[in-house]
Amino acid sequence: MTASLTFTHATLPARVVFETGRAVPHVVSEVGRLGAQRVMVIATASQAELAGAVAAALPVALSWTEVAPHVPVETAERARRAATDAEADVIVAIGGGSTTGLAKAVALTTGIPIIAVPTTYAGSEATDVWGLTENGRKTTGTDPRVLPRAIVYDPDLTTTLPRDLTVASGLNALAHCVDSLWAPRADPINAAFATEGIRALGAGLRAVTASPADGSGRSEALLGTYLAAAAFASAGSGLHHKICHALGGTYGLPHAETHAIVLPYVTAFTVPAAPAAERRLAEAFGSGSGLSGLQELRRDVGAPVALRDHGFRAEDIPEAARIILTAVPASHPRPVAEEDLRAILTAAWAGSPAEDI
Ligand code: NAD
Repeated sequence: MTASLTFTHATLPARVVFETGRAVPHVVSEVGRLGAQRVMVIATASQAELAGAVAAALPVALSWTEVAPHVPVETAERARRAATDAEADVIVAIGGGSTTGLAKAVALTTGIPIIAVPTTYAGSEATDVWGLTENGRKTTGTDPRVLPRAIVYDPDLTTTLPRDLTVASGLNALAHCVDSLWAPRADPINAAFATEGIRALGAGLRAVTASPADGSGRSEALLGTYLAAAAFASAGSGLHHKICHALGGTYGLPHAETHAIVLPYVTAFTVPAAPAAERRLAEAFGSGSGLSGLQELRRDVGAPVALRDHGFRAEDIPEAARIILTAVPASHPRPVAEEDLRAILTAAWAGSPAEDI
């Protein structure tokens, strides 16, 4: 017999336009829908070609290329001033999570609407979460002004992503799905998004890593990214995101790789206390258990394995554990002590088997 359900769910509004090879006409059409006349394009050098094509088709008042990981407040302030001086009335953000993040920082204080054109699998485009870093500490918050008004997904834009970043970024999206199953506002609706996201990301990442020219694999991975981000935006940050947030914000670790490495350890720690999530994970991965399915996927795509290879130092583990402990969600299914966090961080630092957690 199924227990009766009790939950309150919120889904963020989203307009998702998805087509391979047609980013420019869709951006033009979305700018037109908003009635915007003065476009601010944010794009780094890796997206210069698409930014140029957008600029040729639209009234661009400002082209901004200065983007840094985790959105330093100084960068955000410069971009905000430039957007205001240029009287921009829409931001077209073409790039990964750092580019979307800068657009969100501008939108947070100016209210200028964003059209997001993602080129990685980070998923920031479908959330109302902003992040800013000042003096080595990253602050995040939620605000409806930073939620993009439209997302233009074009799987062709991921073809230039190096293989390592494809894998790490795809596993960042997968982490949104997995963590959503026990995050503070986890419910059956965001769990449905998360489980379909896991299936799509698993299939897509396997296809893209086996054959980089596989267009349908790229579509699956990007579709999985949206589902993952929508699940995460609704369910909130669980233990995994709290750990990665501290590691990125305080120790400057690379975002996607950190998510990719930490995920199996948080999964191994949590599933014994979360049987419903474990059943969903095993089913979504098509494996005997959630952890074995995750590890099979990580092996198949060649996931990064140890935080020590990405700049984390063993001597920082005790401090990191103390910082993370203050942020652990009270609703996490398994009680989390400082020594548990030290064990998770030590194993992730070394890349030792998650099954031993
Ligand atoms: P990123 O945006 O920093 O991009 C990583 C590198 O890849 C950069 O050098 C970038 O120029 C390059 N790049 C991006 N797309 C490319 C492409 N198609 N081809 C070649 N090179 C490309 O990294 P990310 O992992 O996409 O995003 C990480 C950031 O996003 C973090 O700051 C994280 O906190 C944030 N984020 C926020 C949310 C949210 O909901 N607010 C969600 C996920 C991630």
